[in-house]
Amino acid sequence: MHFENSLSFASSMDSKDSLKDYRSRFFIPQYNGQDSIYLTGNSLGLQPKSAIDKIQQELKDWATYGVEGHFDGKNPWFHYHKFFSESSAKIVGAKPEEVVVMNNLTVNLHLMMVSFYRPNPARYKIIMEAGAFPSDQYAMQSQAEFHGYKYEDAVIEVSPRPGEHALRTEDILSVIDEHAGQVALVMFSGVQYYTGQAFDMKTITKKAHDVGARAGFDLAHAAGNLELQLHEWDVDFAVWCSYKYLNSGPGGVSGVFVHEKHANNPELPRFAGWWGHNESERFLMKKGFKPEYGAAGWQLSNAPVMAMAVHRASLDIFDEVSMAQLNIKASQLNRYLQFVIEDAARSNDKLSFEIITPEDRGCQLSVLTGDTGKALFDHLTKQGVIADWREPNVIRMAPVPLYNSFEDIYKFGQILKSY
Ligand SMILES: *Cc1c(COP(=O)(O)O)cnc(C)c1O
Repeated sequence: MHFENSLSFASSMDSKDSLKDYRSRFFIPQYNGQDSIYLTGNSLGLQPKSAIDKIQQELKDWATYGVEGHFDGKNPWFHYHKFFSESSAKIVGAKPEEVVVMNNLTVNLHLMMVSFYRPNPARYKIIMEAGAFPSDQYAMQSQAEFHGYKYEDAVIEVSPRPGEHALRTEDILSVIDEHAGQVALVMFSGVQYYTGQAFDMKTITKKAHDVGARAGFDLAHAAGNLELQLHEWDVDFAVWCSYKYLNSGPGGVSGVFVHEKHANNPELPRFAGWWGHNESERFLMKKGFKPEYGAAGWQLSNAPVMAMAVHRASLDIFDEVSMAQLNIKASQLNRYLQFVIEDAARSNDKLSFEIITPEDRGCQLSVLTGDTGKALFDHLTKQGVIADWREPNVIRMAPVPLYNSFEDIYKFGQILKSY
């Protein structure tokens, strides 16, 4: 695609954009009386304006019905989790029975590992990317140790080659091969939180299965960002949070995918709770756990309705668009951002960058800055740019298709040039 670093080009892209009206459905944080340039949808997505009505509906039903709201409310709380299945399934490429919304991300990662990381002395290794999000590292370490294995021995991290920032798929596959008979679980992120690399989940899953291991993914940075086909790719399980690209508020609920092939297997060990129990008998309070079919059978507790109400507000918006449509604009915004950054660097000697996000990517662009990176970042912040600084010297930016515009990117480039 041909780009120009000009306001007229950015405005004309915006006027042609079929998603342009969605921006007005979100609150854009203000800076000096103007819209800030918000580039951290990968960290905390913006608030849908409809969120307040969704919460108020639940508060109203609680006030009106008290406990009877479980059945008499507009959105009966007894069934509340079901109101998320269709929409979530569409976002991750799953069947509705394969997904459930519950708890928070790291909690769900542990719950999935209870079921799908079943090590024995012959086969106990976990293969993951080096430099994974700390919570995932801690989860893998504590799971390995919980089962009596040593972290350094059980958890194999795949690193980029010297001088490279991204992982090559062939290297991931060859590490899996190297440990073939000993691998219990291959656990990667869908999109690497630091570099923005999108992993080839289909190929990684296939290789994991070829060596007799299971494949799980943390989609914190992938859900609502990439087009996913979890069912078709035969992924065993996945988890994601709703507050990054899915705009459902700080600490928002998490989503879980369990492949259909595991749906009806009551033998699969799990940590159970009453909300995962067969629905028709749930309130009979009888002994003996009988799981619901599918991902719903992994629920522990009754739904956190207030937090989920916000998630529903966001999913209403995702229902109106397709991930394919979002991806087209996401890619254009991302490429335009790269173009504008490279153009600014050519015209301003003080700017030196290295883009560390490989071609396989979603919304995010991660830029390695020189020694003066923090000063540049502070300059951006003072000019109303909300981006994300990661030690030691990376700026992460993620223009998102629902509320970022090409004009945002153009203005960002002008601010860079003025440094
Ligand atoms: C954001 C993120 C988390 C955060 O976990 P919570 O349990 O929601 O606090 C975990 N893992 C990854 C990969 C993330 O990007």
